[in-house]
Amino acid sequence: MSFRIGYGEDIHRLRKGGRFVLGGVLISNDVSPVAHSDGDCLYHALADAILGAVGEEDIGHLFPPDDPNCEGIDSSLIVRAALLKAKDKGFTPVNVDCFVVLERPKLKPHIEAMKEKTASLLGIEKGDISIKCGTNEGLDALGEGRAVKAVAVCLMERKE
Ligand SMILES: [Zn+2]
Repeated sequence: MSFRIGYGEDIHRLRKGGRFVLGGVLISNDVSPVAHSDGDCLYHALADAILGAVGEEDIGHLFPPDDPNCEGIDSSLIVRAALLKAKDKGFTPVNVDCFVVLERPKLKPHIEAMKEKTASLLGIEKGDISIKCGTNEGLDALGEGRAVKAVAVCLMERKE
């Protein structure tokens, strides 16, 4: 049995209106990420953590920002693509730890649903997913509510 750990992070500007999906869950219709895909910052960080664990290049290589086929896509597809890359090398996820920095809306009411979505996407137990959140204490673009940022680490296991 062997283990690999990966890290990912992502940031998106926010704009008024649109759909704000984070961790596969709709959290607002008042503000949304500026993005080519659906802008799910947490899933982008997670996909990069999975790819990083198995030594693959980042999600920009799998889903180039100038590819018209990526327009508005559901970011769970990006995570699935990362999981397939890992599976090709014999690796599956063990646990995930994430942190989201967002001024508003408050994430606390959505965290359980985000964990459930993410657990079923990764094929692991909800208890193996940690999603924490905080504000940036009013500092910088994040604190002014002009951006959302997520970081993720993922442990992967190869069963021989
Ligand atoms: Zn992104």
